[in-house]
Amino acid sequence: MLFVFFIFLLGLIFGSFISALTYRLPRGIPFVFERSFCPICKKTISWYDNIPLFSFIALGGKCRNCKKRISWRYPFIEFSTAVGFVLVYIFLKNGIFFIGQDPTLSSLSWVALPYLLIVFLVLEIIFIIDLEYKVIFDIPVFFLFFLFIITSILISDSVFWMRLFFAFLLSFILLFLSLITKGRGMGLGDVKLALPLGFFLGFPSALVWIFVSFLTGALVGIILVLMGKAKFGRPVPFGPFLIFSFWLVLFLEDKFSFF
Ligand SMILES: [Zn+2]
Repeated sequence: MLFVFFIFLLGLIFGSFISALTYRLPRGIPFVFERSFCPICKKTISWYDNIPLFSFIALGGKCRNCKKRISWRYPFIEFSTAVGFVLVYIFLKNGIFFIGQDPTLSSLSWVALPYLLIVFLVLEIIFIIDLEYKVIFDIPVFFLFFLFIITSILISDSVFWMRLFFAFLLSFILLFLSLITKGRGMGLGDVKLALPLGFFLGFPSALVWIFVSFLTGALVGIILVLMGKAKFGRPVPFGPFLIFSFWLVLFLEDKFSFF
């Protein structure tokens, strides 16, 4: 229980990092060695006003200097990251990601938690930027693809070639859909994202994943149109659905061979 609390706090800290990163990256603001500042009055935020979640509550959601409202995205991203971290830990602890007692695989098991938390963070960055800017950057996508390929080779994964073939097959199917819908349905970012995620899930889980992504995407799309928040034919970013469904399939399927 104490460890769950530790994971939660770790998630809050990383969530704070992610909320700043996803704010600065698409705006071209340098990230490293730059103190946090209020987006409205530009005043540097002191460390005691920059404690994830708690400072937002203590300040009543207002900047100490200009008293303007602080965007909900900060506490929301911090809290979601913390919850995500706890979920990944619980599922991992319950052996959801493990299969069998293969000695080759168990040698990697101690890195499984930090490994999956890194995967979670990178996917979260892609998720938020796609949601807010409708763009998927190449670097995090190819970082994941490279990471999964290396891992698969390290654990002498017997289905390595099958994963690779399937990842490219899925990616080509999405590329075809993107071309015939002229990019309205999905963009090239989604096509590229199918490479690492399709590779990780492999056959047949990746098929379930694509199906669930389209299903949740269509469902949310219809709800948004009914609420008057979106129009038919106007693109809704598909990346968040690919990422949400990836975790959903990973958590709900009981057979995974990756770890
Ligand atoms: Zn301010």
